[in-house]
Amino acid sequence: MMERTDVVIVGAGGGGAVLGLALAQKGIRNIVLEQAPGPPTGLRGEILQPNGQQILDRLGVLNKLPADATRSVRHFHFCKVGGEKLCTADYGTLPPPYNRAIVTLPNAAHHVILEALGKAAPGALRYGATFKGLRREGNRVVGVDVERGGQTAAISARLVVGADGAFSKVREALGIPTKLHLYREGYLIVILDSPDGLDEGRYFVGRGEILGLFPAAGRKVYLFDMIPAGSMERVKAQGLEARIKKWISIDPSLEKTFRTLTDWKQTAYMPTGRVKTSAWVADGAVLIGDAAHAMNPHASQGRMQAMVDAMTLVELIPKCLEKGDVSAATLGEFERCRRPQVEMLQRLADEQVIFWNTSNPVLAFLRDRVFRTIGRNRRLSYKVLETTAGLRETTPFGLLDRLMAGGFLPDPNADKVEHG
Ligand SMILES: Cc1cc2nc3c(=O)[nH]c(=O)nc-3n(C[C@H](O)[C@H](O)[C@H](O)COP(=O)(O)OP(=O)(O)OC[C@H]3O[C@@H](n4cnc5c(N)ncnc54)[C@H](O)[C@@H]3O)c2cc1C
Repeated sequence: MMERTDVVIVGAGGGGAVLGLALAQKGIRNIVLEQAPGPPTGLRGEILQPNGQQILDRLGVLNKLPADATRSVRHFHFCKVGGEKLCTADYGTLPPPYNRAIVTLPNAAHHVILEALGKAAPGALRYGATFKGLRREGNRVVGVDVERGGQTAAISARLVVGADGAFSKVREALGIPTKLHLYREGYLIVILDSPDGLDEGRYFVGRGEILGLFPAAGRKVYLFDMIPAGSMERVKAQGLEARIKKWISIDPSLEKTFRTLTDWKQTAYMPTGRVKTSAWVADGAVLIGDAAHAMNPHASQGRMQAMVDAMTLVELIPKCLEKGDVSAATLGEFERCRRPQVEMLQRLADEQVIFWNTSNPVLAFLRDRVFRTIGRNRRLSYKVLETTAGLRETTPFGLLDRLMAGGFLPDPNADKVEHG
């Protein structure tokens, strides 16, 4: 007998798990299919921006984050490789109570969301369940085929949500034209012990170099080291000592911290990519998160935007189900509402890729100049922070702001903070 539900979500990542939980809290039946055998355990970037905190609060899980796995961070300093401080992002200037970034130990927030989903909708989350294809009636999607434990089964659903990441198979099955761009740089990620006691974030930019250091709970530090895509084996062949020496040359004050890297098993490599799709909706189906719009991690918003998608969609789904209308035209309201912020962040992150990742001395000079101006200009620095925090939907800088940031025009309102 075919299983029936209202919504099938493919992927229990940042977007899918939040959508499953939010639907369950509204009493809407859903099944979340996740190909992994259980909750994730790997290393990944874990900064909860203010918009993400707000969402977790609305879902009633923010206060369930384990205190020993979370750390509030107020200041992130942007510095030149070599030491000069260029500017500081001060989360304390944002509206309370979400006026901080929360750095969590790997997967800590995700585990809490999955646990809440398990409680709100027992049996809804299916691990080891791989999406195999869409079921259709005419052009309309009416369910999925799923493989679990070596068996294929069909699930009939009124709506199918593809939350299965940048390489989405749901998107492929929908036949939605997609541009998938893989950036030339990825990140070596490590979580280190920190005998040096780092309290504030540090982000070093150089010529073709980026090193991010973010304090985490339990005197740990996340380290992000930008390396060329596909170069992990070469980096390993150069040896641990070569990497550690490189980091020490960038920030000698954290030598003891860097020396807690003793095995490559402590590290992970994360590639970076961008997804642009011509549509996020079809008759009976929707894409959310990276499946619809993966972005470069400079935006610091990829996962947060997947969560915002989920919270936006959860407002629309009950209306669609009530009316019995899950057509692309009706689901398009979700896409129209979300595209502007997401595309703004994708564009911004791509500009940051050009200037932050550069090894070109002229671009690096301009970048450092912009960082320095932002460091002195409260108005511009607030706009950038608000964008990274996910609290702004429109582009932070117009043409005049860009000229001012580049130091080509004076800013008479440099001390006036405007909320976006
Ligand atoms: C280096 C780096 C640092 C980052 N830092 C941040 C940050 O600080 N803040 C932030 O907000 N974002 C950050 N991101 C981005 C963030 O990780 C992603 O944007 C986010 O995970 C997207 O969520 P998602 O739910 O759309 O997809 P994913 O999290 O990729 O989840 C997709 C899920 O679908 C499952 N799946 C895939 N195919 C199938 C299938 N066929 N059947 C069943 N299940 C399937 C996968 O196993 C996975 O669990 C970073 C990314 C990188 C690379």
